[in-house]
Amino acid sequence: MTQQNVLVSDTKSGVSLTVFPKPPASPGGYISISRRRVLKNLEINGGQRINAWVESMRASSPTHLKSTPSLSQEHSTWILRHPSALDMFDQIVDASKGKQIVMFLDYDGTLSPIVEDPDRAFMSDSMRKTVRKVARRFPTAIVTGRCKDKVYNFVRLAELYYAGSHGMDIKGPTRSSKYNKDSKAEAILFQPASDFLPMIDEVYQQLVDKTKTTPGAKVENNKFCLSVHFRCVDEKKWSELARQVKSVLKDYPKLRLTQGRKVLEIRPNIKWDKGKALEFLLESLGLANCSDVFPVYIGDDRSDEDAFKKLRDRGQGFGILVSKFPKDTSASYSLQEPNEASDELSSTLGGVETCVPASTFPCVNK
Ligand SMILES: [Mg+2]
Repeated sequence: MTQQNVLVSDTKSGVSLTVFPKPPASPGGYISISRRRVLKNLEINGGQRINAWVESMRASSPTHLKSTPSLSQEHSTWILRHPSALDMFDQIVDASKGKQIVMFLDYDGTLSPIVEDPDRAFMSDSMRKTVRKVARRFPTAIVTGRCKDKVYNFVRLAELYYAGSHGMDIKGPTRSSKYNKDSKAEAILFQPASDFLPMIDEVYQQLVDKTKTTPGAKVENNKFCLSVHFRCVDEKKWSELARQVKSVLKDYPKLRLTQGRKVLEIRPNIKWDKGKALEFLLESLGLANCSDVFPVYIGDDRSDEDAFKKLRDRGQGFGILVSKFPKDTSASYSLQEPNEASDELSSTLGGVETCVPASTFPCVNK
């Protein structure tokens, strides 16, 4: 069972950091850091606190993983607990029979590969074709940390729901959908952090200015949140870059910092995340209280854990983690890479041919 994320307030600087569950120890790859040690580091002094951030981010972005016997064994053990969604396909289809599937898809690392330049994280034409087919069969949402408009320009499918900025910017399909004939319901627009826009813009400018001395650093404005990308920064400079980010954020106690795959993310310190966005979308679709809804969430990053956990709490559907490496996760199944996500989506389309058609939406078996 995955431990819950812990929100730690740094009272001295006013900066909050969400500490995620540690990955399992693995020689040659993950850096093993205990939760206790992370918390201790957060409490001691600025230097060690920075180290905790960087170590935790490095642990979630294993780039130097070498194949060792013990690692293979660890991976095998992990796969037993989180089997490949492709291998478990028949069981998944059985579990969804007679239920309304709703598909939630992260973007980076799930529909598109992780690339050095985040502005060039394009999805393939075949992936787009697959997602389009999926959206014809099931309500489908993209749930991402990216700015909603930017991810829309990558995906370019008007029939989807888009939850950008970690779910803080939600918009429904822009044209008529067979899923819901209620025109008001189709015009979903939800922005729980709109008051933060001026502050986010201000911090964006300061971060751009502060980090320009670090080669390769890139600050991305995702409208309601910001991303500081470490992808093109020499690992020896990661601590320096994290220090620069912290020096800006110390004056903004209403913002919090989380770390993901080679990225530090800054967002409003409100109780809203991808899990809440999932629930909001189910509610908007009129499915939140249906016993026969079957939500499927596919994602690769730590921010997706909130959605995986939400599904576990609801006892409906399941989460699929896209990862080549063992990670502590609330997802039920795993996939190795975006190509496998495409295969899984295609298989789902074929496998549910005999299931109850989506046109009986919102509740299949009222
Ligand atoms: Mg992702």
